[in-house]
Amino acid sequence: MAQNEEVFKKIISHAKEYGFVFPSSEIYDGLSAVYDYGQNGVELKNNIKQYWWKAMVQYHENIVGLDAAIFMHPATWKASGHVDAFSDPLIDNKDSKKRYRADVLIEDQLAKWEDKIDKEVEKAAKRFGETFDKEQFINTNARVLEYREKIETASARFNKAMAGEDLADVKKLIEELEIVCPVSGSRNWTDVRQFNLMFSTQMGSVSEDSNTLYLRPETAQGIFVNYLNVQKTGRMKIPFGIAQIGKAFRNEIVARQFIFRMREFEQMEMQFFVRPGTEMEWFEYWKDQRIKWHHSLGIPASKYRWHKHEKLAHYANAAVDIEFEFPIGFKELEGIHSRTDFDLSSHQKFSGKKITYFDSELNENYVPFVIETSIGLDRTFLAILSHAYTEEKLEDGSERVVLRIPPVLAPVKCGVLPLIAKDGLPEKAREIMDSLKFDFMCQYEEKDSIGRRYRRHDAIGTPYCITIDHQTLEDNTVTIRDRDTMLQERIPMERISEMISAKIKAV
Ligand code: ATP
Repeated sequence: MAQNEEVFKKIISHAKEYGFVFPSSEIYDGLSAVYDYGQNGVELKNNIKQYWWKAMVQYHENIVGLDAAIFMHPATWKASGHVDAFSDPLIDNKDSKKRYRADVLIEDQLAKWEDKIDKEVEKAAKRFGETFDKEQFINTNARVLEYREKIETASARFNKAMAGEDLADVKKLIEELEIVCPVSGSRNWTDVRQFNLMFSTQMGSVSEDSNTLYLRPETAQGIFVNYLNVQKTGRMKIPFGIAQIGKAFRNEIVARQFIFRMREFEQMEMQFFVRPGTEMEWFEYWKDQRIKWHHSLGIPASKYRWHKHEKLAHYANAAVDIEFEFPIGFKELEGIHSRTDFDLSSHQKFSGKKITYFDSELNENYVPFVIETSIGLDRTFLAILSHAYTEEKLEDGSERVVLRIPPVLAPVKCGVLPLIAKDGLPEKAREIMDSLKFDFMCQYEEKDSIGRRYRRHDAIGTPYCITIDHQTLEDNTVTIRDRDTMLQERIPMERISEMISAKIKAV
């Protein structure tokens, strides 16, 4: 754990040092849980967006895009349930004055018991060797059963308290579980309160209640309120989807995990409208599609796992998360939800406008059901960055930090480097740069030794570096260096473009 925290810190400082992520308004000491993307960060982010957009919109003939405004009519958030229900239970520790999410405190306690079970299993596996039967051990070992019982009882009690909005019992549970504040170590807790996560602001010059707007806490509602517009003007036939990438805002209570949990972040969401009664088939279809998308990035499948929601949001009849193993542990990266007809029906009710679909095959009007795939762009960025970050000891005893970013997503595809900044080499290198830059993001660099320039490109994840030397002037060949293997190959200039293209394709 401590070692992972160490790695996480290194990734954060690497992200800053190499222009990926900066704290927002840093010259004023930053703004909590808000970040800016630097020169390399914005490239990586744009490439992730494009990779997602292509997979969702370009490759699916029945999915189209949308870019809805962040500001929406305030009734939207009444209809969606966010005004009444988009809140987290918070609790303060009176000694440290630190604020926590009550549900997270309880989940952390459950996770501690889960860890203890894992340790018991590990110990037993060592003791019994090959004859170890894990299933049998878990079902019979007294200690494991005791922890399991504790987890189940606490979890059932918490779910019941939340469902019944019994916040006093949530506090009681925290006290009974003897949960202490990680900072003060005390059990001196305030009452639990619900805290709405939406940011609000005023529109116009008169500050009346009716002018209160919310910064959207999810992009999905922009899609729902445009369902009719898109369906009619695009003459879309069910099943079809609408995809959108955009900012979302949440006043997160606990936000101390770099870009994992931000107050301003970006989502890539797709709402897929289906015939009622077919939603479970489509739910399975999208689970399969989305996990394939993640695997296509070449990150080992073992870094991902499924988490099925037991406690469903007010709008859902099935929900799973794709979790990723971040340096801070397995955490949610993407949610796939079967949202029923909740949102469209609710907007129909609040707006008074008919939001239905005429299904000519069935000769029937209905409100479509919705399957949603919702992935955090910033969390995807963090997943890629943290998996890519590698410290290597080289054969000559030196060390390098290399970002093994999938080439298709790398901020810079190719470094163009004249060996020295004279003898006509810069001119030749410029000629190559000009021939590549319309197709690929390339970077021309002539400062510092070639070794240092290679290291800088390793550190930002550039898949290829081209070196132009004296031989290039004679026979139009260059050396091309591979980021991962560090092997160099001499190739004719005309092959550079083809090699970069092939590299980007083979994720
Ligand atoms: P969590 O349980 O971690 O708060 P959530 O279940 O509230 O997340 P959703 O409402 O399902 O998240 O949002 C969809 C996706 O948006 C998440 O899977 C995540 O990748 C991303 N996301 C949500 N909240 C944040 C945040 N504060 N910062 C960055 N990304 C976020």
